[in-house]
Amino acid sequence: MRRPLIAGNWKMNTSVEEAITLAGSIIDQVRLFDTVDTVFCPPFISLRSLKDTVAGTGVELGAQNMYFREKGAFTGEISPLMLKGLCKYVILGHSERRQFFHETDSLINEKVKAAISSGLIPIFCIGESLAENEAGKTEEILDVQVRDGLKDVAANPHLVVAYEPVWAIGTGRAATGVQAAKTIGFIRQKIAAGWGQDAADSLRILYGGSVTGANIAEFIKEPQIDGALVGGASLKAGEFVDIVRQTAALKK
Ligand code: PEP
Repeated sequence: MRRPLIAGNWKMNTSVEEAITLAGSIIDQVRLFDTVDTVFCPPFISLRSLKDTVAGTGVELGAQNMYFREKGAFTGEISPLMLKGLCKYVILGHSERRQFFHETDSLINEKVKAAISSGLIPIFCIGESLAENEAGKTEEILDVQVRDGLKDVAANPHLVVAYEPVWAIGTGRAATGVQAAKTIGFIRQKIAAGWGQDAADSLRILYGGSVTGANIAEFIKEPQIDGALVGGASLKAGEFVDIVRQTAALKK
């Protein structure tokens, strides 16, 4: 049985003070739902302060990105060694990184390998664009993203995959639970082909894209879907808690 995971991607939102307040207002309520792994992914600058805020609560932290080198002349970048000890997870390959910062599958692959060798758990994001979806190319695109993004990565049951159709991110137009489950089933099969069925069956695959308290149940009730990567709704304490609460209730 895979433990459900709900991760909040706060993106480029919240000052350090706001991050502490937001985390504080969620933690006391989500700790009641200890069958769900809850993760906050705040901006880098808040990780150190939130490490103290979440200590002993069961809530974990994730970074939103990192570079793959350990250190050196890479102005503006953050390394796996800097994150190690501050957070457990790191989001890699988010569609906003692919779109606005031109991250390729091969760069993301370097990051995935570096994160794993530093003991961080990647939340590896993949997903097709609207044009690709409308052209019926979803599986073809995901096939390449899985193949190239996980190239030379040994079977790793801790890795988390987030299926995030680009057309659903921040648009208010979520996939349906049935659509997402079907695509996630396809992703699991692809991973099984490379890593074997046992590793693929242990791996958590999340859905992301306009998840709210109003639609989370549709995704969570699907056995293939192990949780959600939540953007906009993770900045609203009450709504995020509601998403975790419904997940705990439905994934028993
Ligand atoms: C995301 O950024 O990963 C995301 C899913 O955003 P939203 O929930 O706002 O669509």
